[in-house]
Amino acid sequence: MKKYENDFVYGRERLRILLVATAVGCAASLLTPQYSLVQVALMCLTVVLFVTCLALIFKYCRCPNCGKVIFLGVMALKSCPRCHRNLVTGKKMKTGKSK
Ligand SMILES: [Zn+2]
Repeated sequence: MKKYENDFVYGRERLRILLVATAVGCAASLLTPQYSLVQVALMCLTVVLFVTCLALIFKYCRCPNCGKVIFLGVMALKSCPRCHRNLVTGKKMKTGKSK
């Protein structure tokens, strides 16, 4: 079993899979004939996946230090926009440009 550093990392990995599944479901529903049963089923699936994504974001994708929900850029962000701590290690990120 794969080990995760914390809930945030776990949630982000799950979210990545779900987002891919949502995109695939969305694309597949667009490729199927309009108003067919298959399209309705695929659209329902896409909506369910999308809602699951949102639930996952609110459950796991929050800063481990200050609890802020990371909504935008959850895949790219390395530090919390509010408290500027690393989302994985919890260490304070260096601020300022001088080394
Ligand atoms: Zn934070």
